[in-house]
Order: sequence, then structure tokens, then C-alpha cells
Amino acid sequence: MPSYAIISDVHANLESLNAVLAVIEGLPVENILFLGDAVGYGPDPNECVELIRKKSALMIAGNHDLAAAAAADLTYFNPYAREAIEWTAAVLKPALKGLLGRLPLTGTVPEEGIFIVHASPRDPEGWHYIDTLAEARMGFQYFTGQICFIGHSHVPIIIELMPDGTVRTYEDRAVLQEKCRYIINAGSTGQPRDGNPDAAYAMLRGNIVEIIRVSYDIVRTQQKMRDAGLPAFLIQRLALGR
Ligand code: ZN
Repeated sequence: MPSYAIISDVHANLESLNAVLAVIEGLPVENILFLGDAVGYGPDPNECVELIRKKSALMIAGNHDLAAAAAADLTYFNPYAREAIEWTAAVLKPALKGLLGRLPLTGTVPEEGIFIVHASPRDPEGWHYIDTLAEARMGFQYFTGQICFIGHSHVPIIIELMPDGTVRTYEDRAVLQEKCRYIINAGSTGQPRDGNPDAAYAMLRGNIVEIIRVSYDIVRTQQKMRDAGLPAFLIQRLALGR
């Protein structure tokens, strides 16, 4: 089985994306999967969308991508996110807005039994968080195949469903069992919220899945955000990983 790098929630943070891409350099494009939220929050939306498009075989939509593309209903978002989305919509090249607006909500790598969705397999457009084991257990009913990769919460976790219905979790590494199924949150490359500010992504090698952390130049991203006039709260949280 080939190796896969699964990247999510870059949120226009080019420094974090470049740091992750440098680590996975050499991995063919076919084996890089992107789980959505290329933009929103960060200072480099155009560069990030172009780079993700170029480097990944599958690119699906996150809620921030669709909001920035359509400048649609922003009531769902908190004030900081809304301000960042409005800024993003104003600076995004029209062609890239079009690209984001046409992204699919889900994707598959059938030969590997992989399904990808930004938030939850149950209702991709509802943008629900899988933040309880009950929600996770329900999610398993809504995809076929062994593995579903998700993002959205910016908190990485590996959830395992055993044949008897038991669900258990692993923090950052698991050996995948043939009889089990998995929902794996790849964490966030551009705005981690698990207390670790380093960029996160998931790596699948054979039957081993790991959450990998990569340090990057946070200060540089923060300076760009300041220059762009993005909200102070969004600038500060990058250093905290919260
Ligand atoms: Zn996100």
C-alpha cells in the first residue's frame, strides 16, 4: 500500500503549509489528500489555494472555502471568523473563488477504502463537529470503506470502531486492524487547537497512521496577519495552538 499524506485546515497559513510540504517532499501528488478549509483566518489565501491545487490529488471543500467563494450566509461564523472571511473574499482572485465554489464535499480513494469529508460523514453540508464518541459511532454508518479522514475541529484524533461495536481512541498513532474501521481527524496545518502550535497532518503508511507535527515560522505568519489587519485574537491563538 502506498503512503498518503492527509492535510486539512490550512486556513491561508502559507508558512505552515510550506513546512508540511517540505517534510512530505517526494510523495507523489496522487498520494496527497486535502480535507478542506484552504482559506479563512490567515493572510495568504491565493497562494495556499494555488499550492494545494497543485500538490494534491483530491481537494474537497470546507465551510470557510464555500463561505469565501460565495460570500454566502456568514451567520454561522463567530465574529472573528466572519471578519477573516470577508477579508478573504475581498482579496481572493476571482478564478480561485470559482475553484473553491466548485469543490466537492467528499472524496474517495476506492482502492484503499478511504473516504474524505471536511466535518462529518453523516451530513457533510451540516458542518457538525465529531466531538463525542456517540457522534463518531453514528458517523461510521455514513461511509463505506475502512477509513474516513476528517478535519474541521482542528484537534487530531484517531477513532477506532471494533467489530463488536466498541469505540476507542488513539492520540497520535495507531496500527490499523483489518477488522476495524476508523474515523481519523488529521488536525489542522494552519491553526491547531489542541494546545500544540506546530502544524499537523496525518500520514498513512501501510497499516500505520500517525499524526505528524511540524514547527514553522509562526512569527512570520503573525506579522503578515498584522499587516493585513486581521483580528488580534486570530493572530494570538496561532502561538498558543488554541
Ligand atoms: Zn477549519
